[in-house]
Amino acid sequence: MTERVVIVGGGTAGSVLANNLADEVAAEIDAGDVEVVLVNDREEHVYKPTWLYVPFGEKTPEDAKRPLDDLIDRRVDLLIDRVSAVDTDAETVSFEGSRSDLAYDHLVLAMGAQVTPEETPGLAEGGHHFYGPEATEELRQELAEFTEGHLVMSVVGVPHMCPVAPLEFPLIADTWLRERDLREDVDITYTYPINRAHGIQSVADWVGPLMEERDINVETFFNPERVDPDEQVVHTVEGRELSYDLLVTIPPHDGSDIVRDAGLGDDGWVDVDPATLEATHAENVYALGDIADLPTSKAGSAAHYAATSLADRLASVVRGHRPTAEYDGKTVCFIESGEDEATYISFDYDEEPTPKQPSKLIHWSKLGYNQSYWLTARGVL
Ligand SMILES: Cc1cc2nc3c(=O)[nH]c(=O)nc-3n(C[C@H](O)[C@H](O)[C@H](O)COP(=O)(O)OP(=O)(O)OC[C@H]3O[C@@H](n4cnc5c(N)ncnc54)[C@H](O)[C@@H]3O)c2cc1C
Repeated sequence: MTERVVIVGGGTAGSVLANNLADEVAAEIDAGDVEVVLVNDREEHVYKPTWLYVPFGEKTPEDAKRPLDDLIDRRVDLLIDRVSAVDTDAETVSFEGSRSDLAYDHLVLAMGAQVTPEETPGLAEGGHHFYGPEATEELRQELAEFTEGHLVMSVVGVPHMCPVAPLEFPLIADTWLRERDLREDVDITYTYPINRAHGIQSVADWVGPLMEERDINVETFFNPERVDPDEQVVHTVEGRELSYDLLVTIPPHDGSDIVRDAGLGDDGWVDVDPATLEATHAENVYALGDIADLPTSKAGSAAHYAATSLADRLASVVRGHRPTAEYDGKTVCFIESGEDEATYISFDYDEEPTPKQPSKLIHWSKLGYNQSYWLTARGVL
């Protein structure tokens, strides 16, 4: 009997998992004992961190894409289709198109997160963001015409993809405006929902003085409730008002209705064991990457490290061995700090990160990593 592993989502998590698993169980696949199926709803793999650079004219949304077919091991069956539902009793997935239901022995959900600006009244009309290909291109056009006034970078949605992109945007914008001799005519404000500039205490401690040095105003306990696009004002739950000329936000995020409907997690994120990545509410189901409700950040590096550990576990499971590999929450994020410098943070479920002194070397390392990412997606790095 062939053991079929079905992976839904061909982003960072799904691609790294599919490639690593195909490599580990190559002999079993060749013998017909194991089948690995990767389902993605589009033909391209998208590397989302590229979107940060689009508003500043350094990258285009096209730079973020590569055909999945070029990235995925030939031993993996790649299906381009959109999964519409999962039945964990029948152990099947259904598709939006006319394709018949697909039975699985082991199911991995890796559908990522989606942004939902429409959840906050006025946000979609009044604000911009860089968390999608069209949105980041629109923001590039807005920024190119922005010569004076109040630039507000507001974190509306928590949890959100990438723990540090909201910090990177105003720090890069500061340098970008200085290089164009516009900084004196632009005030920058960064807002965050809790009582400090970042959810991780050590990152908040590091970035607070840096923002002050760069003359970026920080507003905390700032939870936007609605945006008035005509008056260009953000209204918060706390009863505060903030006027803007250009509003950039990290919009609210959501998981997936597929997860809610399958009873795998009420909030749309899959409830999992943080170490084994096994779903809490169903047998033979796993989740990793942004769709998993894990006590770490929704970051590509977390997805990558979790995927390599899950590949080890699944290789053991399909061979009938006891799986021992566990994910420890390892996450590594570079942080662009402007002035062509960057730092990075490395942490796991137990250890808080300590940001290093920013340097040009780390900035170039980040840019270098962004190129070599395509080897990561292939499962090589
Ligand atoms: C602007 C920005 C900057 C970032 N910078 C960094 C960074 O510097 N470092 C870092 O570590 N992380 C960063 N991230 C976060 C990182 O991109 C995500 O954490 C990572 O992409 C998560 O991988 P994933 O595979 O879980 O989800 P995704 O990469 O989103 O992949 C999900 C895949 O599932 C597919 N899919 C969804 N629903 C279905 C369905 N129903 N059927 C079939 N397919 C489906 C999607 O098309 C997609 O291909 C950044 C994110 C953004 C937006």
